Amino acid sequence: LHGATASGKTHIYASIIQDIILQNGQVLYLVPEIALTTQLVKRLSILFGNVSVYHSKFNPAERIETWLHVASGKANIIIGARSALFLPFTNLKLIILDEEHDSSFKQSETNPKYHARNVAQYLAHLHSSKVLLGSATPSFDSYFLAKKGKIGLVTLQERYFENEKPEIKLIKLDSKTLPPHGMSDALLDNINLQLKEKKQSILFYHRRAFAPYIVCTQCEWVPYCKHCDIALNYHKWSNDLKCHICGYKQNIPKKCPACANTYIIQKGIGTERIEEDTQIIFPEATIARMDQDTTRQKNSHEKILAKLEEGELDILVGTQMVTKGIDTNNVNLVAVLNTDVLFHFSDFRAKERAMQLLLQVMGRAGRRNQRGVVVLQAYNIHNEYIKSLDNFDFKELFDKEIIERNLFNYPPFSKLIIIQLKHKELEVVEEAALSMAAGLKEKYKDAILGPAEPHISKVKNLFLRDIMVKINPNTYHIDLIKEDIFIVAKKITQYEKYRQVSIVYDVDPY
Ligand SMILES: [Zn+2]
Ligand SMILES: [Zn+2]
Repeated sequence: LHGATASGKTHIYASIIQDIILQNGQVLYLVPEIALTTQLVKRLSILFGNVSVYHSKFNPAERIETWLHVASGKANIIIGARSALFLPFTNLKLIILDEEHDSSFKQSETNPKYHARNVAQYLAHLHSSKVLLGSATPSFDSYFLAKKGKIGLVTLQERYFENEKPEIKLIKLDSKTLPPHGMSDALLDNINLQLKEKKQSILFYHRRAFAPYIVCTQCEWVPYCKHCDIALNYHKWSNDLKCHICGYKQNIPKKCPACANTYIIQKGIGTERIEEDTQIIFPEATIARMDQDTTRQKNSHEKILAKLEEGELDILVGTQMVTKGIDTNNVNLVAVLNTDVLFHFSDFRAKERAMQLLLQVMGRAGRRNQRGVVVLQAYNIHNEYIKSLDNFDFKELFDKEIIERNLFNYPPFSKLIIIQLKHKELEVVEEAALSMAAGLKEKYKDAILGPAEPHISKVKNLFLRDIMVKINPNTYHIDLIKEDIFIVAKKITQYEKYRQVSIVYDVDPY
């Protein structure tokens, strides 16, 4: 369901749910962010009465309750995050994945690594039920399947925006004049204007913490995590340095351990810094921040959203979270502080994701009877993608991108699997990865890439090496590939030396 407005889609979902309830079937309704369940539960409860909710922020007792309720067949509508896919359904008839393009549907941190979209399809196959994917900006994988006729496609022929499209203001950044907080004078003027008119603003930045790292001004020493190959982030509120991968913390050194210089400065910015500086610039404004650090506790995310919706906030600063599911009347300005960086992430989906994000952002500004403003700060204002936002056409973007994917044999034209090997000794993991790659190359030749050192090459004291399998699923059956990979892996780990090497698989890694 390639559907313009949020309300239009929800209306369709509701009418399909109605049919299934009448047949006594179960409906699983998946959302990418658990904070978004609150609004949805309210809406669906009014229509259908009892709605069950399931996600990882519930405590075990609450989860067991829902689990039993689903197992007994008494739960008809279950709203949840991706983990709800593993509930014991008895009569599942429909799985809805709303905002199906959202990368939160991919579990990429713990094992097993899976994509909710794939698991939903398999679960539906087991239950002979249906899957409904909904999005205003479909993932290219789903859209590709739809265009090939492998899955159905319904397009809501309305305009993308509920009302008038927001006005886009593109502001060119100049690193020489940009203040350390990353907000240009033009952006500050725009925020000020909203404050005067008692309207709300949302400021989006892709990174949390106060500063991504600190550095010695004399010898350029940067503190790294003891356990991972990554610089420690500076958090001002807790006044410490933290690893965003393993959670390791340490105090801020009073002097550089390398050269004893006492002048150590912060580099770069994060949402914490932006929040603080915005408060200094606009002392009268009520400001909140929404990122992983402020939403750790149960309901904290909902509380911030409620404050925004009730008009208690003037400015909300945040990471990706602020681009999702905010549905209030009064947000008039949405600003992206660094637009360029969205296009520079180093995987092949960067452009697809950047455009999805920017379109979501545009949808947040000025809903219902008022024309909002979207401020995009960028160093390269000639980026053709950013320029195309004004007269955006999803099909055009898709057609252009898909040619490039085909040219470089990226999904949906190929299947990617990352095999990651981990060991506490670098030499051991390097050797094991080399033999594993060699073993696979015997049969799969050029489809095996690497081993390579991943971007972050050490995590929690283990050294990492990646082997990438990039394969055309029409040439080899995916089950056969899986079998071969396991055979090779088993051979390697049979050697005493490699016994402790752990091997992790990530299918559709991006
Ligand atoms: Zn130093
Ligand atoms: Zn770490």
